[in-house]
Amino acid sequence: MFKTKSKLSFLVAGLVFLLLTTFSMASAEVLLPEEPVQNIILLIGDGMGPSQVQLARYYSLYQLNQDLNMLKMAEIGATSLVATRSLDYLVTDSAAAGTALATGYKTNNGMISQTPDGSPLLTILEKAQALGKSTGLVSTTRLTHATPAVFASHIYDRDLENEIAVQMVESGTNVMLAGGRRHFIPQSVSGSKREDDRNLLSDAENLGFVVVQNAEELRSVNPQTVNNLLGLFTSSHMSYEIDRNPVEEPSVAEMTQKALDILSQNPEGFFLMVEGGRIDHACHANDAAATIHDTLAFDEAVGVALDFWQNHPNTLIIVTADHETGGLCITKGQVSDDGGLEYLKVTDLETIAQIKGSFEGPIYQGLETAQSLADIQTVIEEYTGIAITEEEATLVQEGKAWVPVYANQPANSIGRAIQDEIKISWGSGEHSAEPVPLFAVGPYASTFDGFIDNTEVNQVMSQAFQADY
Ligand SMILES: [Zn+2]
Repeated sequence: MFKTKSKLSFLVAGLVFLLLTTFSMASAEVLLPEEPVQNIILLIGDGMGPSQVQLARYYSLYQLNQDLNMLKMAEIGATSLVATRSLDYLVTDSAAAGTALATGYKTNNGMISQTPDGSPLLTILEKAQALGKSTGLVSTTRLTHATPAVFASHIYDRDLENEIAVQMVESGTNVMLAGGRRHFIPQSVSGSKREDDRNLLSDAENLGFVVVQNAEELRSVNPQTVNNLLGLFTSSHMSYEIDRNPVEEPSVAEMTQKALDILSQNPEGFFLMVEGGRIDHACHANDAAATIHDTLAFDEAVGVALDFWQNHPNTLIIVTADHETGGLCITKGQVSDDGGLEYLKVTDLETIAQIKGSFEGPIYQGLETAQSLADIQTVIEEYTGIAITEEEATLVQEGKAWVPVYANQPANSIGRAIQDEIKISWGSGEHSAEPVPLFAVGPYASTFDGFIDNTEVNQVMSQAFQADY
């Protein structure tokens, strides 16, 4: 589908393009630009399938009276659906799906930008570096988590985050803003997950990075004077948006803005990846409110990218996901004994709007001391405004431990307990093979069309940078 072209053929093609555009001004025909794109901003909503977008959109339309920026992109740009399978499974994880987006090659679940037999795969970030562009990674997960990792490291197991941290600090990536400090501080420091004495924050400073650790420090960074910025705002993942304290932790939109302010100083352009990483975690937990708020926070970052594009039109913006998580159903999962068939209404969104915290944040904390079904009912009502029945409280109790692990976790029992009230249900606590949406604006955006494979997203980016080797 995408051919490698020589510089000469680009010159010729460029001339033909000029002639064509000169003599076909009245034509509505879309011509692909032949000039390389200066900047690419790739925004990945981890776990964000079509239902996640639709649910957040309904919430935004009927609770906040505004449409999503992603949907504005759909109006002015291109839309596509993307299949996500990995090499070894029809259902992918973020490592394999991220590798496909970052490199254009499929690999096995769990692997970070290398083939199953261990060959490293060149990433779009590394191609941008070879072109003299600046590069950046922004995420709400740990910096060493799969999606940011696939752009700037190569390893056979995504869980080797201490090694990924070393590779990322040494990767030459100019701006890295995320959570995950615990993999960058020496083992002697409390909270460290390292098994050695390396202090990667000092190493980064020695390599010329300014290091920031909270929202205030990030806000005070002057993009005119800082070229290399490492911001690690939390020990592990950053907070769910619904729980986030803005004094401590910047929003993903703020991180995106700062990254753009710094990266756009390079006249050669840049590549920036922005991940809304905790949409996936909220969906693993079957937590509809946390899913909505993280999707909206991600969409705000999309808005920052669109604003940048207004003033820098030679920028390709792609918004997509690595996979869907949770088999999110925007409908009731089961008809209650007395309720009959009752579909989701606009007013049900008001119930969701009352929810004040994530299952894995304040609700878990509250449940830790719950002794009885009545205690469970009290905690759930305090944080969600929802009075659950004794039967539903039993579901939560049978979830047994309130330990936040992402698979087969009791959080899902809270999701089940309130699904009759919020009329949102889930098919799974795992990923699904649901195709994911893609929205694109800017040069080369019209290349996206129809039902594509995730590797093709990378092919378009490589073509746009004229680095499709
Ligand atoms: Zn996941």
